[in-house]
Amino acid sequence: MPRNTAPQTLSREIRISGHGLHGNRPCSVRLVPVTVPSGLLFVHTPTGTEIPARADLAGDLVLATTLLKDGIRLQTIEHLLSALAGLEVEHLRIEVDAEELPILDGSAAPWVEAILQAGLQSLEGRRRFMKITQPVEIRDGDRWIRALPFDGLRLRYVIDFPIPSLGRQSRELSLTPEKYRRELGSARTFCLAQEVDQLRARGLALGGSLENAVVFGADGPLNDSLRYEDEAVRHKMLDLVGDLALLGAPLLGLIEAHAAGHALHVALAQAILANPGCWEWTEEAEPANVRFFFQPLVSQPA
Ligand SMILES: [Zn+2]
Repeated sequence: MPRNTAPQTLSREIRISGHGLHGNRPCSVRLVPVTVPSGLLFVHTPTGTEIPARADLAGDLVLATTLLKDGIRLQTIEHLLSALAGLEVEHLRIEVDAEELPILDGSAAPWVEAILQAGLQSLEGRRRFMKITQPVEIRDGDRWIRALPFDGLRLRYVIDFPIPSLGRQSRELSLTPEKYRRELGSARTFCLAQEVDQLRARGLALGGSLENAVVFGADGPLNDSLRYEDEAVRHKMLDLVGDLALLGAPLLGLIEAHAAGHALHVALAQAILANPGCWEWTEEAEPANVRFFFQPLVSQPA
């Protein structure tokens, strides 16, 4: 079965509740299928404010990706966006009753499982891809990220932390929904133990715990176990997939990132959108030799 090139939404509604990582307040999210391709649209339900998932509305990028519009903030959107982009669900209404999305287990896995349980629904038309034709690069000292022409979407990520338990990790993969689910989606967010007090003093990570984050101490993770030996770099790639969803369309290119984070991810998305000479629209997903065969899980009765 060739890769589905139709725009996709969900087959049915999903509701998920939890609490925010940074504000530690309860929040719930309702994912509502749409009937025509219209992108990913957040709705802050207490005010009715509609905020499209677009890079030009992103800001406040310290340790999370935030959308800002009309005085409303929606924080920590990146793990849900990552699950949606990773599974190629590009058209959906996302209703949120608070200013931060639930952190759940710190990865995208709970979103991924809920999406696959609900099932995907094809919409009329064809997916349009943004195909990188000229390099786009953003640098911030030793940190950088760039997009290069490539047939498909390939991610190459390097992190290098000055503590031995984390150190240097690198990973590279060509993204497909199945690889996303298997290799990236379950990787949890992380921080250094030495940063925790500082974060809390700044009002960040108030809802953080070993239940929703990996905390690296000098001798290793404080958690009982890791889900992958290189879980940290995989989580960075998960974040990158979510931040690139702010382009508003799937990307074809090689994305290389070195010691990057949300600010550089979003800056790259903004630079791509601001430089239409560096990319072109195409409906050709990928060459035949890397086509992907993916059968969504059949929805099980509860
Ligand atoms: Zn993250």
